[in-house]
Formats: sequence, structure tokens, C-alpha cells
Amino acid sequence: MNGLLSGLAVCGVCGSPVHAGVNARTGIRTYLCSASTGHLTRNAEPIEVYVRGVVIARLSVPDAHDVLNDPAHSDVTDAWDSLTTSRQRVIVGTLMRVTLFPPGRGTRTFRPETVGIEWLS
Ligand SMILES: [Zn+2]
Repeated sequence: MNGLLSGLAVCGVCGSPVHAGVNARTGIRTYLCSASTGHLTRNAEPIEVYVRGVVIARLSVPDAHDVLNDPAHSDVTDAWDSLTTSRQRVIVGTLMRVTLFPPGRGTRTFRPETVGIEWLS
């Protein structure tokens, strides 16, 4: 399965796209730098949860409703969650540039500041 941000987000160390992977030991989905695994390997889920929240907040602004183009869902969260991952990827790629930074040594909890978000539209 492709992650939401695979090939979309970039490595905060070198700027290369990140790819989705799976930790062979734990089975946890990850994102890792496509240029060097020494740059970063991060658990995918907390990053995706964070980005989902940011996107939903952005799309909740009235001028952004057209992006979803889905009159069947008046609730932005429902509309977002009803989209396929490939459609979500298109929207994320249109709205923002996501940069993943190394989480830092000894950090086990997710910190939002390690995910850079730059608005494109
Ligand atoms: Zn890198």
C-alpha cells in the first residue's frame, strides 16, 4: 500500500522525496528518505494523522470548499475521509509541500514541529 505522503513529502535533510516502507522488525509503516536511509526513517501513522488534521482545518475555510468538489458531504472531515488515498494525495500535493525532519535522538513522541508544511495555494 502506498502511503498518503509517499513521493509527495520530501526529506528535511536533502530534499529528496520520501518513500513509504515497512519496518521489517516491527511491521510498522514508515516514511524514509529515498536518497539515504541514514537521513530519516519515521513512523508513518502519526505524520499522516497530523497532516490529515492540517488539511481538514485548511479545507474548512469557506473559500476552500471547491477543492473537495463534493456537495454530498457538507462536513469536511467526512468528505476527506470518503476520498481515496490517490485523490487525497492530489489534494495534498496541490495545497502544500510537506517536509519531514529527523525526529531527533531519544524522541519517542510525535512532535508537529518535525513536519514542515508550506502552503502552495
Ligand atoms: Zn535525505
